[in-house]
Amino acid sequence: MTQTDTRIATASIRRRQIIQGIASSVTLLGLPGTNWGKQSWASNPFSLGVASGAPTHDGIVLWTRLDPVCVEAAGLNGQAVPVTWQLAHDAQFSRIAAQGVIQSVPALAYSVHAEVSGLASDHHYFYRFLAGSASSTTGKTRTFPAPEARPKSLRLAYASCQQWGNGFYGAYRHMLDENLDMVMYLGDYMYEYPSSRPKDIRPTTGGWANTLETYRQRYALHKSDPDLQAMHAAAPWLIAWDDHEVQNDYAGTQKGNSGRPIDDFMARRRAAYQAFYEHMPVRRTNFEALISEHSDNAKIFGSSRFGQLATLYLLDTRQYRDPQACNPNNKTGSSQLDPSSCAIWNDPQRTLLGSQQENWLKREFESSSAQWNVIGQQTLLGQRNLDTQGGVRFSNNGWDGYPRARQRLIDAMIQTKLRNPVVIGGDMHENWVGHILSDYKVPTSTSVGVEFCGTSITSLAHINQEKANEMLRVNPHFIFADTEYRGYGVVEFTPNRLRTTLRAVDDATNPRSAIHTLAEFTVESDKPQIQKVG
Ligand code: FE
Ligand code: CA
Repeated sequence: MTQTDTRIATASIRRRQIIQGIASSVTLLGLPGTNWGKQSWASNPFSLGVASGAPTHDGIVLWTRLDPVCVEAAGLNGQAVPVTWQLAHDAQFSRIAAQGVIQSVPALAYSVHAEVSGLASDHHYFYRFLAGSASSTTGKTRTFPAPEARPKSLRLAYASCQQWGNGFYGAYRHMLDENLDMVMYLGDYMYEYPSSRPKDIRPTTGGWANTLETYRQRYALHKSDPDLQAMHAAAPWLIAWDDHEVQNDYAGTQKGNSGRPIDDFMARRRAAYQAFYEHMPVRRTNFEALISEHSDNAKIFGSSRFGQLATLYLLDTRQYRDPQACNPNNKTGSSQLDPSSCAIWNDPQRTLLGSQQENWLKREFESSSAQWNVIGQQTLLGQRNLDTQGGVRFSNNGWDGYPRARQRLIDAMIQTKLRNPVVIGGDMHENWVGHILSDYKVPTSTSVGVEFCGTSITSLAHINQEKANEMLRVNPHFIFADTEYRGYGVVEFTPNRLRTTLRAVDDATNPRSAIHTLAEFTVESDKPQIQKVG
């Protein structure tokens, strides 16, 4: 030990004693002790960043999580640690709009969810967290316009699929410049896989994620990325999961097919869902039953209204679905199917959303007065025949594996006269743009809405461009596909039209990569026809 090391060690022991003293008074009183504000840490405990999400016209959820290494170094393991949150009108926090103290607890991995309500609508705010003498970075967020308001525009980015080892999150550095109202994240925030060397661009630490502790570590790894942190700090996010937040290709209560088999899949799913809660700016009520071990389920679907201009629906196509149809040899997971030899494929009982979510969505459609109805869900909605040689072959993992459920969704749009349905998706790791047909069995049927299925932030495409071009030829309701580029989409909704810009990083394996526009589309209001304009 050098002299400096000794000094640090002595200092940290002293610090630990101080913190322990304060922490016990915290436990007793539920309030920070008098010296708590002076408490210093070995390093900043807010190294996992900050985030805001689940915006409404008068509320927002603010999130952070204390760095577990920091908590342990401070000798606070196993104790509650008070965290102050502040929401202000200005970046200097001289005009505080709301503030409070939350006890972060080890049972929830020292996560903090401040659910703020009673705020001004259509308003921008700054926020931060404080613990002892440490302060988090300052985040920016906003509330949505009042329900009756008529905002002039809504600008959102949609993104999905960011496998750590496949690349860097440079896309988010460019997303910062897009002047967004919000981000819609559509699943595969992380992958449960271990590192696959030497293919990986950067190492995934920790092996398989399959327990509460390993899911937490995997989220913490992702949250350490500076570009991802910066984008979370820049705008509110609406976030859904897909399969990889639990296990590749799982279906409802049935396990998927990655990694060594785990005896109790539902225990694994509960752990994964809890870790999701601990790392996302989502509402406690939707996870309460799961956290208190009264339910295996947690609710991530819901709707948010952006005045009269748009209503955003976030769906969950993973938690309540029936198993994939006609996998060979009774295997779990996904495969491709030939509908002529898979009777169950067309069974009207089969569901992707579950009946409760389906009924809820139809009621939402019935009562919607929004001009644009934006449906964020995990995967590709439109039918996509994979056989380009004259036969028929579908993936059984997306809507193509659940055709009757898809038809019910489309029928609900038609029957409720839903205005301007816009479906946004992910999962494909490829950009697909197309028209939603009233009935995919009839290729000449009318377009009832439009679909933008996004590429990935980093995850690799499944097919090459040549194959995508062939698929466009046999699936003409899709007007554009790109498999080459990673990135995100930006949609700007205005009263007269929407404009979608597909943004592509030149090279997702380079953290400083430049970005370019891959293609641009417009759709006029009340006319579900996509124009490619760039
Ligand atoms: Fe993915
Ligand atoms: Ca997926």
